[in-house]
Amino acid sequence: MFALSKPIPPLYTVYILRSTVRNASLYIGSTPNPPRRLKQHNGEVKGGAARTSRSKLRPWEMVGLVSGFPGMVAALKFEWALTNPHVSLHIPSTSRISTAAGRKRNGRPRRPRHTLTSILSNLHLLLRVPSFSRWPLNLHFFAPEVHEAWNKWCDTVDEPLRDTIRVLTDFNPGGTSQRDSESSDTENEVERLWGIHALPLDYAPMRTYVTKTQSIYDFEREGDCIVCKEHLEPGKGLYATCPNTDCEGTGHISCWSRHLLGKEADEEIIPISGRCPKCKGEVVWVDLMKEMSLRIRGVKEVEKLLKKPRKRKTRAESNI
Ligand SMILES: [Zn+2]
Ligand SMILES: [Zn+2]
Repeated sequence: MFALSKPIPPLYTVYILRSTVRNASLYIGSTPNPPRRLKQHNGEVKGGAARTSRSKLRPWEMVGLVSGFPGMVAALKFEWALTNPHVSLHIPSTSRISTAAGRKRNGRPRRPRHTLTSILSNLHLLLRVPSFSRWPLNLHFFAPEVHEAWNKWCDTVDEPLRDTIRVLTDFNPGGTSQRDSESSDTENEVERLWGIHALPLDYAPMRTYVTKTQSIYDFEREGDCIVCKEHLEPGKGLYATCPNTDCEGTGHISCWSRHLLGKEADEEIIPISGRCPKCKGEVVWVDLMKEMSLRIRGVKEVEKLLKKPRKRKTRAESNI
């Protein structure tokens, strides 16, 4: 279960791609790096999917995505279920909005065409089925009209989403007209990064956390397991530390898992989140796993993360 060959990637997403030329052309994919993948779809770098290579539909844009998957496999499962709602076992056949569009020559149901409504309705459904609804997923929208369509759809559905799912929006600050923002006065502030370009693609958000755990494990200050109270002998097992600032609560990974699962322990294998026994703050299992995978399998990544950042010249300094 903990055999990690590489550290868990900082980000993994399942995205909705839309042709800016023909908005009805939609595509679903998954990637740890949305800006790079978008370049691939647009033919700016190698490796795009064949279905998006028709140049008359380019350029493509990402109008929304889901992040926060507990790992790559989880994201791939979600992508598959969203791409194949007509056959996905995650979606009960009675609540399927998309039904198979006839059958292929081999007898398998043909995948129906995606429409924005079918994607959003299936997304809403998937976020409510037991296999996915426990995950602390984030839903991002980068186009106002897609977010609006989402809200409209939510109004028509009686069942709300779990409150562990966050809905975030980040729209083009230049408004709808891109030309306006390009020709804006160069004296103005550098254009704010938005949408997929503002997502954290590296481990930078974990810098404080990793600095803390490094000082604990390097100086063998593990102490006693905050769950079972046994002494944690340095280097003798897999331990994880609370991600909350100022809390050094450390425990056996199996103890954390049991503690976070709590009452769910009989039905579920993977914990999602819970309270730290020491500081009582919220702890998300994926965060523990990410830090542990970096500590054990990510020597290079940690070196890069903790390297002193090069001092950037501010405008005031460069004017001197
Ligand atoms: Zn323990
Ligand atoms: Zn804590």
